[in-house]
Amino acid sequence: MTAELMDGKRVAAETLAAAEKRVAHIIDQTGVVPCLATVLVGADPASVTYTQMKRKRCEGIGMRSLKVELPESTTTEQLVAEITKLGQDDAVHGILLQHPSPPHVDERAAFEAIPVGKDVDGVTFGSFAHMWFGEAGFASCTPGGIVRLLDAYNVKIEGKHAVVIGRSAILGKPMAGLLLDRNATVTICHSRTQNLGTVVKQADIVVAAVGKPQFVQGDWIKPGAVVMDAGYNPGNVGDVDFDAAKGIASMITPVPGGVGPMTIATLIDQTVTAAARQLNMQDA
Ligand code: NAP
Repeated sequence: MTAELMDGKRVAAETLAAAEKRVAHIIDQTGVVPCLATVLVGADPASVTYTQMKRKRCEGIGMRSLKVELPESTTTEQLVAEITKLGQDDAVHGILLQHPSPPHVDERAAFEAIPVGKDVDGVTFGSFAHMWFGEAGFASCTPGGIVRLLDAYNVKIEGKHAVVIGRSAILGKPMAGLLLDRNATVTICHSRTQNLGTVVKQADIVVAAVGKPQFVQGDWIKPGAVVMDAGYNPGNVGDVDFDAAKGIASMITPVPGGVGPMTIATLIDQTVTAAARQLNMQDA
């Protein structure tokens, strides 16, 4: 068996094309241009690239983006004040604080300054609680993008056994919550899990979010399982041994071009939804 490749680039492009139509409709009906504010503290090169990419995608579909760049020396109080100001600005519909902030900043305090309605990156306690209780809120973007990709490929989630490897606040934990909300039976694995391969072997859906190149072995995969590789390691390598797993899985995400593009598409789509909600547009 050779697994079908799940083309995140294509699905992300379709997601953005649909978002572009919604943006045009919002502008047509209200004259307001949906806007994402990206907040970056310091000048970490990878973070600079990520925020640039996000703004470029916004502008590419007719949205506005607001660049907020603060010096490395910014204090928690200054950052919280800046984010609070954006939260109060009616022209800003979504706020993204690029992670990681410099170590002296209390990043949690800064995240919590984002109003839940503008938390399009799904990083606040409020968004997490909404997601966990199955209420309308914004998902953390990478797990949200993974669910969208599963849906785009008509993968049945309900009743399936999903094994999530990793329990970080931005990936593993929200991933488990989203899959649970879709009625999967969910197992969360982490660094203290024993007999990891045996646990993974039971999965109909595997989500790898470990941060270790080619960590998930081909012989851990149950024949016919669907494998979602969230990993993104130096050299464009995922967390799954792709060559081994693709001969056993029924579907698999490549790295790059699988989960990655879905993350930004989810962020942009959630920003359009945030704008529609703030403008009381039920049909956008
Ligand atoms: P993280 O915060 O470092 O979390 C890694 C998780 O893996 C932890 O929960 C850790 O367990 C677990 N783990 C580590 N070693 C393990 C082992 N030997 N066996 C089982 N579990 C183990 O990483 P993250 O932020 O969630 O990111 C995970 C991966 O996704 C990275 O490759 C990252 O680059 C990628 N990523 C991609 C995107 C995207 O847009 N595509 C976005 C974000 C992240 P403990 O909790 O026990 O330590």
